[in-house]
Amino acid sequence: MTASQAAGWLLVKNGYVLDATGSPARGDSSVLVHGNRIHSVGVDVDVQVIPRGDPVTVIEADGKTVMPGLIDAHCHMTYGESRTEEEIDLYTSAELRTLKAAFNAQKVLRAGVTGISQPGGSYYIGVGLREAIADGIIQGPRMTTAGRYITTSNGLTDWYPDSVGVPAGSIGILANTLPEMINEVRHQVKNGVDLIKLADSPFGDYQAFTADELKAITELAHQLGKRVTIHARGSAEVGAANSAGIDWIMHGNVMSDEVIAGLAERGTPLIPTLLLLANIVDWGRLVGAPVELRDGMARALDKTADSLHRAHAAGVTFAMGTDSGFSVNPYGEWHARELELLMTYAGLTAMEAIQAGTRNAAVTLNLEGQIGTLEPGAIADILVVDGDPLEDIRVLQDKKRIHTVIQDGNPVVFDDEALARRWPHHRAQTYSAEDLTYDLIHGDAVPDGQRALAETPGLQRDEAMDIVRTVQVRERVGDNA
Ligand SMILES: [Zn+2]
Repeated sequence: MTASQAAGWLLVKNGYVLDATGSPARGDSSVLVHGNRIHSVGVDVDVQVIPRGDPVTVIEADGKTVMPGLIDAHCHMTYGESRTEEEIDLYTSAELRTLKAAFNAQKVLRAGVTGISQPGGSYYIGVGLREAIADGIIQGPRMTTAGRYITTSNGLTDWYPDSVGVPAGSIGILANTLPEMINEVRHQVKNGVDLIKLADSPFGDYQAFTADELKAITELAHQLGKRVTIHARGSAEVGAANSAGIDWIMHGNVMSDEVIAGLAERGTPLIPTLLLLANIVDWGRLVGAPVELRDGMARALDKTADSLHRAHAAGVTFAMGTDSGFSVNPYGEWHARELELLMTYAGLTAMEAIQAGTRNAAVTLNLEGQIGTLEPGAIADILVVDGDPLEDIRVLQDKKRIHTVIQDGNPVVFDDEALARRWPHHRAQTYSAEDLTYDLIHGDAVPDGQRALAETPGLQRDEAMDIVRTVQVRERVGDNA
């Protein structure tokens, strides 16, 4: 809304209001919104306060749940639903990646996610996307963003051999010394990030940063008015990050009781991002995820469940993050599944899970205390949902049940047909999903080989299409030359 427009009124009437403050949900309740802020909530909302002649929009919410919009604290808009790391870092240009991110932002909002934080992505696409959404140039959730992950040669995102290095399109930037880290923080802040993302070791078996490096980076970012988060899967990194004053922590798959006690004591939010793992374990088979990846993720989930249950019992604050943006957790498809997974793998109640996906994640938008609840004065990002998520949290996963998405006090109109479209992907140039040996065709191992191939039907078809497309592109280029 621009300043020149008169602030309108919106009345969401007679719903089952789940305000996410922790109070029980109440039927026959209404939410009155003025401009982009909630004016009043409850069974006795007084519409007489609306001056005569002011425009009022009314939404009947009879039989529906009215709740705050979801906030996904871990959503990578630049990944473009990639199927490989090479596709994330190398095979899509900055220009196309930006346009795709702009389109995909609508899908996220359509799913009832009215706020996202992007903890790392390529180029400064996140900053541009955030500004375009804020200015109303494109439709999407309100957003904060990091720049490229700051990593060491021992951290996540320095994937490739040193002969390749960390390419310009990578989601990470290499900084192996403290002066390099400081230099990068300064540039990222200058270029408009909201937060700094650090990438510790991929699987949490060692620390990729020293404790002093974490402290120095965090101190500088805070001095410059920015937040810091970290990819930290192991106990040592989570503990060191918490001691360094990092603002919220991603993952925490393996944590000692002592480290958990430290998170609880400092009130540091933990964002487990279970969705990526659970989607691969539960359904990766259907889309050709390699069996080693599926097994590894299953083992990781078991360990994670143990740590997270202990963290929940110790009173650690959880927030919702989904790591959306890969092919196995595409935009607007599964965000709310994280709430169900927080119940399964961390033992949260449905009410606690909803708070994790609303109020508790507000800090990642730099809007803690201002968004994520339905209270007077709160920013009016609101969902009207068919069904009761306290009874069955899965209703939030079904977009057909997300009846209305209200953003900044305005019901959003979507083009559902356009949003259902899917695009071809860009990725590493693959020749097959298996080795085509003589024995595979003619040897004793034929039945096994056939079984292995039969398990990855989608992958084979798509891999073949990659080659076909690559050849077609080369032919087109050749024709024009
Ligand atoms: Zn991530």
